[in-house]
Amino acid sequence: MILVERRGHHPLPFDVTHEAARQRIYSTRRIVVIDGEDPVVDPKHGDLPPVHQCADACIGQYLLQLAPEAYDITVFGAEPHGNYNRVLLSPLLAGEKQVDEIVIHPHRWYAQHGVTLHAGDPAVAIDRRRRIVRSANGVELPYDRLLIATGSKPIVLPVPGKELPGVVTFRDLADVDTMLETARSYRKAVVIGGGLLGLEAANALVRRGMDVTVVHIFDTLMERQLDPAAAALLKTSLENRGLQFRMPAKTAAILGEQRVSGVRFDDGAELETDLIVMTTGVRPNIELASRAGLRCERGILVDDTLQTFDPSIYAVGECVQHRNNTFGLLAPLWEQARVCATHLAEVGVCRYRGSLAATQLKVTGIDLYSAGDFAGAAGTEALVMRDHGRSVYKRLIIRDNKLRGAVLYGDTSDGPWYVELMSAGCDIATFRDRLLFGRAAALAEEPGASVDSAQGANVSPAAGR
Ligand SMILES: Cc1cc2nc3c(=O)[nH]c(=O)nc-3n(C[C@H](O)[C@H](O)[C@H](O)COP(=O)(O)OP(=O)(O)OC[C@H]3O[C@@H](n4cnc5c(N)ncnc54)[C@H](O)[C@@H]3O)c2cc1C
Repeated sequence: MILVERRGHHPLPFDVTHEAARQRIYSTRRIVVIDGEDPVVDPKHGDLPPVHQCADACIGQYLLQLAPEAYDITVFGAEPHGNYNRVLLSPLLAGEKQVDEIVIHPHRWYAQHGVTLHAGDPAVAIDRRRRIVRSANGVELPYDRLLIATGSKPIVLPVPGKELPGVVTFRDLADVDTMLETARSYRKAVVIGGGLLGLEAANALVRRGMDVTVVHIFDTLMERQLDPAAAALLKTSLENRGLQFRMPAKTAAILGEQRVSGVRFDDGAELETDLIVMTTGVRPNIELASRAGLRCERGILVDDTLQTFDPSIYAVGECVQHRNNTFGLLAPLWEQARVCATHLAEVGVCRYRGSLAATQLKVTGIDLYSAGDFAGAAGTEALVMRDHGRSVYKRLIIRDNKLRGAVLYGDTSDGPWYVELMSAGCDIATFRDRLLFGRAAALAEEPGASVDSAQGANVSPAAGR
């Protein structure tokens, strides 16, 4: 969560230039950040948000670009660390990365950049009337603008035994520590949930020498991203890597006395285990916002400027609900951050109108990409290509000569281009017959095909019509 405090804000004289006006405003402000992530970015990272950054970090970066000298910044974070790359928790668990490789900014970085970090000290209350935030350790800070970026909380199945030692979620460094410690002394693990996180956790634990069974309530994996054909290919690949599956299977209880010893399913069958990893989804973390009386439904309600119903409070990331959508991937958060930062800096004209996010599995050696309406709603057509010899599968969903969704397995190199076609609403009629073969093939015979350098994508002359 980011808290923006403005000190001594002066009204603008009418005759100042835009630039002068900006400097006048910014010279009087202070920002406080409340959350475990970093609010600012080392200039060497360049103009675009590096891939590892979470919502509030991006905002900090954009704000500093807009107003480099303008703010004092304070960060409150629930986690005891400085900023680290949450996305890389999977490679960390798998042993492909070390902790120091996923830490972005250690504690000293904050001091070096003039940022006050209250790590391990979550914000516990927002007094909206007095515009003050209070932390668990009793620190109280006033604000003019407050930015909430409290992320999500993992969903824990409400089954008996869920509190037993040995039952963990997969959200932060502490969860990874618990899993690694368990893998050193125990052998069997069950991962409940066959979505992206569950499969990454299961694969990582196999690599750590554990005997892992994935328990999934549906009969296909990653059913929110993959069609059954791609899901079957994925399952086979994972089985070849040593993962076992029990699906469809519904968990009824977690067994054990001092610590977890097994799991019971609703058909009465039982499976022994020493570790249970629950990856059954996440829920926007709206606790603090809700207690403060901000309007929330599934997430904190925000408008197209990422402003909540309180004009001095903004929210971004997985904690928000925008146009009835909630979020679970980084890409939309970057877009939100960009828009929100300009509005916090009071130079904002842009609006956030939603994102088309793509999903990729981070299991080394398995290429998987999914975006948009992969299943194909009514009125859509599917273009499908299968190459058994190369284990390649592609399914593209089309409606009204526009690409609506894509599932790629085995060869994902054109995934980002497909997403750009979808986002731009390109008319694919003239290269529809070559679309499945990717950008190079699709545009090879396209007279006048152009490069849209702004997007970095080749699009046909019909693009955007
Ligand atoms: C293992 C794993 C792998 C992932 N892989 C991918 C991937 O490959 N691609 C992708 O796009 N996305 C991936 N994600 C999702 C991605 O990490 C999230 O979308 C992103 O981190 C959300 O950013 P956020 O800033 O909204 O929330 P978070 O990153 O969750 O940050 C919120 C922070 O706020 C802190 N906080 C909560 N309450 C308070 C409080 N009251 N006071 C202070 N601090 C508080 C939390 O402790 C947390 O540190 C992955 C997630 C996980 C867990």
